[in-house]
Amino acid sequence: MIPFLDLKKINLRHEEAILNSVHKVLHSGWYILGEEVKSFESKFADYCGTSYCLGVANGLDALELIIRAYDIGIGDEVIVPSNTYIASILSVSANGATPVLVEPNLMTYNLDPDKIEESITPNTKAILVVHLYGQSCNMRPIKRIAEKYNLKVIEDCAQAHGAVYASRKVGNLGDAAAFSFYPGKNLGALGDAGAITTNDEDLYRNLQALRNYGSHKKYENIYKGYNSRLDEFQAPILSEKLKFLDLDNKFRRDIATYYLNNIVNEHVALPYVEEGPESHVWHVFVVRTPDRSDFINYMNQQGIQTMIHYPIPPHKQEAYKEWNELTFPISEKIHSEIVSLPISPVMDMEDVKRIVEVVNEYRPN
Ligand SMILES: *Cc1c(COP(=O)(O)O)cnc(C)c1O
Repeated sequence: MIPFLDLKKINLRHEEAILNSVHKVLHSGWYILGEEVKSFESKFADYCGTSYCLGVANGLDALELIIRAYDIGIGDEVIVPSNTYIASILSVSANGATPVLVEPNLMTYNLDPDKIEESITPNTKAILVVHLYGQSCNMRPIKRIAEKYNLKVIEDCAQAHGAVYASRKVGNLGDAAAFSFYPGKNLGALGDAGAITTNDEDLYRNLQALRNYGSHKKYENIYKGYNSRLDEFQAPILSEKLKFLDLDNKFRRDIATYYLNNIVNEHVALPYVEEGPESHVWHVFVVRTPDRSDFINYMNQQGIQTMIHYPIPPHKQEAYKEWNELTFPISEKIHSEIVSLPISPVMDMEDVKRIVEVVNEYRPN
């Protein structure tokens, strides 16, 4: 079986460095917000090109904390894509604000800038863009709209570490950005982890307190804060893996390019890259096919594991019963037709070639 993603193989490349990091933190005797977290924050800010980076517990917290720090809550609206992982939307709901779903572009799967303005009301406070599947959103028109209506632009970069748009990395394209280092992401920890990047100094200062019980100084609490800190053991592992992120992304890009150039099948629609090649870091390689379950069975029989990102659109989830009767035709079409093919920095090129052959021979039943 060609696995969808071999996480063990990805991490065992760094076995020695990981064991050394654990040893170092163990012997430091300092286990919360120590030197390793500080050092990773500084490296990741440099990598993204931002003034600040703040390590937090996970990607959802990163988004939730940004919205909280901008004081967006009850009665406020935030524009979010209707095609995303549920976490993007949960972060708005968790703050008591209202997520306003806007349809994606069918080619890029990202928020369609032409559909944003019609959803803006006097209560709109921010646009939450998601660089889905690893591809940067089309930020120029989105930023123009944000400026016109005085809205914050918050980036969900959980799938796009290292993607570049107009010579800038994602995480440095809006007012603040959230990253997840969930193990399967392009930069993954060995557990939960996340970060916020920003150039906004006031926001950064607020967030330093918010992630740590609302406190700058121990036992003095200025906000009703959270406990959401990047784990001291995960930080040096992330620092080590960060050194290889660009190489890993390049390898993903090579696989994607091979798929794009060699998969030829009228029943399989390929992904589309809107800007230059660096705008996409291929967190997942998503194709569309009308009879998805037939395609997945066929791939399985041929020994190839696939996944679906994601099978149910957010507005059809039970958690959002209030939206279940709404229709978002583009999102629904995407969610019903997409399948992700294997892609990772440790894949064998022979397996990539085999996948292309198998996909090209696919005929629907
Ligand atoms: C993974 C992911 C998140 C959430 O990250 P966690 O670290 O799992 O909380 C948020 N948004 C998107 C688009 C994601 O893919």
